[in-house]
Amino acid sequence: MKTKSVLLALALLATATPCLADGEVNVYTSRKEALILPLFDRFTELSGIEVRILSANAGALISRLESEGRNSPADVLLTVDAGNLHRAREAGVLRTTTSAALESAIPTTYRDPEGYWFGLSQRARVIFRSTERVGADAIDSYADLADPTIKGSLCIRSSSNIYNQSLVASMIASDGEEATETWARGVVANMARPPQGGDTDQLRAVAAGACDLAVANTYYYGRLLGSDSEDDRAVGEQVAIVWPDQSGRGAHVNVSGAGITTHSPNPDNALALLEFLAGEEAQAWYAEMNHEFPVREGVAPTSVLASWGPFDADDINLSELGKHNAAAVRLMDRAGWR
Ligand code: FE
Repeated sequence: MKTKSVLLALALLATATPCLADGEVNVYTSRKEALILPLFDRFTELSGIEVRILSANAGALISRLESEGRNSPADVLLTVDAGNLHRAREAGVLRTTTSAALESAIPTTYRDPEGYWFGLSQRARVIFRSTERVGADAIDSYADLADPTIKGSLCIRSSSNIYNQSLVASMIASDGEEATETWARGVVANMARPPQGGDTDQLRAVAAGACDLAVANTYYYGRLLGSDSEDDRAVGEQVAIVWPDQSGRGAHVNVSGAGITTHSPNPDNALALLEFLAGEEAQAWYAEMNHEFPVREGVAPTSVLASWGPFDADDINLSELGKHNAAAVRLMDRAGWR
């Protein structure tokens, strides 16, 4: 049933957007359409290349690419989290790409070492504290989240979430499996409630007093601060960022990113799209629209991003997150992180 509706959606898209003379590029994407459609329109305006999209979650898109094989119309897979991008590489649905423009725009830590995928926007997964109940110096590292002194005060989402899996994978890369499992048990012991909801729900829970500390990606905080809703902005004002591990390995960062598919029928157009997304205009858009950090150096931060201050990021190559993903999932399960 699900496949049928996806096929129908694809057929509708095909009739709604006929090809232009300069060709097309087909994007399988898990990103919010409101964020990417204006970027794609701008790309079409500049290049004459029509962009057609199929939206679904990352897992469904990777499975679809696998089952379509060489008959796939897809040129680009666009998704979030290096863990998902690595999974796509492992599934054999991405090809290697060489591009001087991409390699000079995107630091090596934010792209696959062999060119299977490229990070296009950056986010940090950090700690948030209640401005009312937790002092600015009370906590300063991911390790502190496992400290018995904060028992019952932490809100964090489920271990099925790729963002948490990648955070744990980064700890395995840094500290090894044994130490990370001990940490995960400490985190579970400190939870204020069983994991539930998304990152924004964790921030809301801090504002509502259900917990004092939370873990979330930075752009969810940015969305609350920049919201049209007074209630959302009030939530944003009741929490503050704690940049973790600033005297150690740095804050855990991750990317949204993309790769060109193995059987792409339009690889030149696909590359043109990736290069556009790594360009200055698109990089500024990610920051403006979704409070994500540009991966490209030299793009001015928005006032919201600048207000969070500078921070040191973990400089691990993000392909490591994918390599440790399976171990992270098993470890969280053993630790009782639901
Ligand atoms: Fe997200």
